[in-house]
Amino acid sequence: MARVVIVGSGDGGTFTANLLAAELRDEIRHGSASVYLVGEHLAHPFQPGNLDIAFKGAAPDKYVRDETELLRKGVEFVQDPAVKIDLGAGSVTTKSGRELRYDYLVVATGAVADPSRIPGLAEGALNFHTGPKDSQRIWDSLQAFKGGTVIVAISGVPHKCPPSPDEAAFMLDDFFSKRGIRDKVKIKFLTPYPRPYPAEKISHAIEPLFQEKGIEVTAFFNVDSVDPARRKIYSLEGEAFDYDLLIAVPPHHGADVIINSGIGDEDGYVSADKETMKVRGQERVYAIGDATNIPVSKSGVVAHLQSVVVAHNIVSGIRGTKDVMGYNGRINCPMEVGPRRAIFVSATYTSPPTDQTPSIVKYYEKRSFSMIYWRALNGSLERIFDLFFGQTRYPIVDKADSEKPAMTAEVAGGDGKKNA
Ligand SMILES: Cc1cc2nc3c(=O)[nH]c(=O)nc-3n(C[C@H](O)[C@H](O)[C@H](O)COP(=O)(O)OP(=O)(O)OC[C@H]3O[C@@H](n4cnc5c(N)ncnc54)[C@H](O)[C@@H]3O)c2cc1C
Repeated sequence: MARVVIVGSGDGGTFTANLLAAELRDEIRHGSASVYLVGEHLAHPFQPGNLDIAFKGAAPDKYVRDETELLRKGVEFVQDPAVKIDLGAGSVTTKSGRELRYDYLVVATGAVADPSRIPGLAEGALNFHTGPKDSQRIWDSLQAFKGGTVIVAISGVPHKCPPSPDEAAFMLDDFFSKRGIRDKVKIKFLTPYPRPYPAEKISHAIEPLFQEKGIEVTAFFNVDSVDPARRKIYSLEGEAFDYDLLIAVPPHHGADVIINSGIGDEDGYVSADKETMKVRGQERVYAIGDATNIPVSKSGVVAHLQSVVVAHNIVSGIRGTKDVMGYNGRINCPMEVGPRRAIFVSATYTSPPTDQTPSIVKYYEKRSFSMIYWRALNGSLERIFDLFFGQTRYPIVDKADSEKPAMTAEVAGGDGKKNA
């Protein structure tokens, strides 16, 4: 009996569970395999929807589904947060005290946006990374805003969805233009990077648009603290700006269960091989998506493409074949850059993002994601994605450290700071 346990029922965890349930349906039926998905919540959010909630007034419940409706037959959903992952014992313990032993483990616990890591940030800033409710607070604040300085700041990297702060600035410009008060609003963009977007080619596309729209950029601004009473944001470099409304991407870290189990790096991210997503020093443990410190953007696309590879490799392991696949680091993050215009940040480990021209086609492709996301989670759109994304996986010689003795959680290596 092969027991697969997946911890985290977000984008990557749900998709991996469904892929395994489909591929192993005969084994599951005959009782020789089982797939457990351990999750915290019944509600499954489509996180990119936060931007529409914050800046376009979309209803928060538009982007949420019940997890059980998203799962294929054969997946056993355990709605009971994991409190301990013991790589030495090969087990996951849940909050209620249930112990799940595994033959294969997939860590898909995501990243946590945590405003409490910067003094004053939680009290002084709004954000669209901590969920639909907080995103709606931005929309509510915008309704009451009559004019002044709005600052969009990146207060920690890496963070989920690297294009999202730039996108927020564009959406604010659009919002105030439509309200007819754009001339009364100054939009400032504070970034720790040397330019508006970390990847140079993407910045080339954004810089002229920011200039055209009067969005002022301050580079090399590493947020140190916020003074909510005086409405000031300070940088480590000694700069300070006044604001009337502050929207800040909070610092992120790995999930509590990773930190408390001692299986993460200093930021709580799991160190894994960037091609196989195999956790370092472990033979049958994988980490995918935002939970890892693999230097690739924290995005749903990455979680999705990694899931395909990990599910494939687990099935190969269970069936005893040597058919191991690798992931080529393909990313494909959309960014709205004005009314009905978008670009895509596309790259792989070996090919950096290319020059981009804003287009209406890319805009509608981006808008379609909220509709196809739910179907994508059950694996039924893989042929279309293969056409869209191109070759994202390839056969590799198994680099498994199978000859090495199993170790508990060796977590060094990988800078994990990339925000392509
Ligand atoms: C505003 C915004 C816009 C975005 N836009 C895009 C976009 O346009 N394109 C794109 O590709 N990506 C986008 N993303 C990023 C994308 O949503 C994430 O990168 C993606 O969801 C990562 O998938 P994941 O499975 O790694 O983590 P998640 O989907 O975050 O799932 C992690 C899961 O683990 C669970 N978990 C945590 N701890 C435990 C525990 N102890 N026990 C059990 N379960 C646990 C959590 O509850 C959660 O369900 C955006 C994100 C945001 C916030």
